[in-house]
Amino acid sequence: MRYSEMFLPTGREIPSDAELISHQLMIRAGMIRKLTGGIYSYLPFGYRAIRKVEQIIREEMDRAGAQEVFLPMVQPAELWQESGRWVHYGKELLRFRDRHEREYCLGPTHEEVITDLVRHEIKTYRQLPRNLYQIQTKFRDEIRPRFGVMRCREFGMKDAYSFDADEAGAEISYQKMFEAYKRIFTRCGLNFRPVEADSGAIGGSFSHEFMVIADSGEDAIVFCGACHYAANLEKAEVAKPDQPENTDPPLPIEEIHTPGVKTIEEVCAFLRVKPGEVVKTLIFSADGVAVAVLIRGDQEVNEVKVKNHLGCESLELAPDDLILAATGSPRGFAGAVGIKTRIIADYSLLGMTRCIMGANREDYHLRHVKPGRDFQVEAHADLRVIRETDPCPRCGGAIHLARSIEVGHVFKLGTKYSKAMKALYLDATGREQTMIMGCYGIGIGRTVAAAIEANHDSDGIVWPLPLAPYQVIITPVNVNEKSLSETANRIYDTLKDKGVEVILDDRDERAGVKFKDADLIGIPLRITVGPKKLAEGKVEIMSRRSKEVIDLPIDAVEAFVLSKISEGM
Ligand SMILES: [Zn+2]
Repeated sequence: MRYSEMFLPTGREIPSDAELISHQLMIRAGMIRKLTGGIYSYLPFGYRAIRKVEQIIREEMDRAGAQEVFLPMVQPAELWQESGRWVHYGKELLRFRDRHEREYCLGPTHEEVITDLVRHEIKTYRQLPRNLYQIQTKFRDEIRPRFGVMRCREFGMKDAYSFDADEAGAEISYQKMFEAYKRIFTRCGLNFRPVEADSGAIGGSFSHEFMVIADSGEDAIVFCGACHYAANLEKAEVAKPDQPENTDPPLPIEEIHTPGVKTIEEVCAFLRVKPGEVVKTLIFSADGVAVAVLIRGDQEVNEVKVKNHLGCESLELAPDDLILAATGSPRGFAGAVGIKTRIIADYSLLGMTRCIMGANREDYHLRHVKPGRDFQVEAHADLRVIRETDPCPRCGGAIHLARSIEVGHVFKLGTKYSKAMKALYLDATGREQTMIMGCYGIGIGRTVAAAIEANHDSDGIVWPLPLAPYQVIITPVNVNEKSLSETANRIYDTLKDKGVEVILDDRDERAGVKFKDADLIGIPLRITVGPKKLAEGKVEIMSRRSKEVIDLPIDAVEAFVLSKISEGM
């Protein structure tokens, strides 16, 4: 493509509302433009990157035996009522009515639609397994869309759904998708890790997230240096500690006046103790009912673990009135002794024989509290956030924390949707059985943004070759000089004939401007046609990633470019 004819509005200014580097660069490189909050248009340069990701996904999904469909974006409320999610999905589900007052939503995901399709068409075990996928626009009404296409409301997604006759088959389907995802993200040139994850709002029993490692990532992951264990921070298990031998003799409980002392730091400073000697009592509202969660003062509660342990639909820190009802005191002085709620405790309390905690009385704390003597715990469980100093829950090795961006997610759904929506089949003995499902998503725009987040420098994007909208840019330093222009055109024609995706920067601009744009849009190879080298029959080729420059005779350019492309650069 000739640059002069391209719709490629690049810019030097950093957009004021763009925090993330990928967001800034996608705007500056003329890839996207915001239409309204969380809703973006892709311009030609950006859309080419999208199409590259889609193509890789299609090839790998097809290779794994999945078949492409295209499902409607507008979905009737009845299906969501059947699955139970019309109520539970919350405000992210954009609902509306048509002219006949019938209720609909814009699909944030397609479990209901695909289950409805399959239950009408698949009747016997002979028609199973099946895996159907689509690349479709989704809408999720995020409360605070941000980071450009990374967390937006309207976005492209590949979603696949597998249907199996039994658990063993479902496991095979899951593994096939797991392997396909590894191939997809490897082919995209991304540094990624599959991690164990919580199943969240989609539901189901087991899931992995595919995370691109990037310092700016919204998600924290944990991985082991010694074994393959890797998990999302919210999912990462903390091994149950060996019960420590505690030799501190128990002492009688004592109430102490602690005026204005609320936080762990304040308690420690006031009483001259370490956080590990204090027990935090957090009051949660679990589906509206107060529950006390105890944890040692030097640890953090993991709310996902608490929610999973309680098996509740909603969990939030209790409002003031609930705290007052449970403890008889205002926020900040809760303790387990005499509290009127269920009490669950993190493993970190095991073995504690004396601790300091709130007295359920304003401006008072208790010391020498002995769990089991002074209060009863309903259950001890793993309820805390893992830390870098904790051992790997699988092998005991050292673990590491890293920031990352989720680009894909695979779920074992089990029978959550097939049971609710009666997706049944007849087995070999003629008995009716429920299909076992899995679902598998990849955020397309997010994958592109994550690739930029992990591949850029101070000059702009550094595309991994497989996602690069174009592979080569040819820059004649002065288009008004006939010999330069002719040579550049000749190389352009030759490369185009060979199927290379190439831009000819034929703009009448200073060389510096062209170089800046080429760096910004991140084309992997730049061929510079300048007078000095041309006099020797040569051109300069620069790698965008290494900035390494070599001189090549014009005749050798084609072979060089083709070999670089075939080796993936
Ligand atoms: Zn390990």
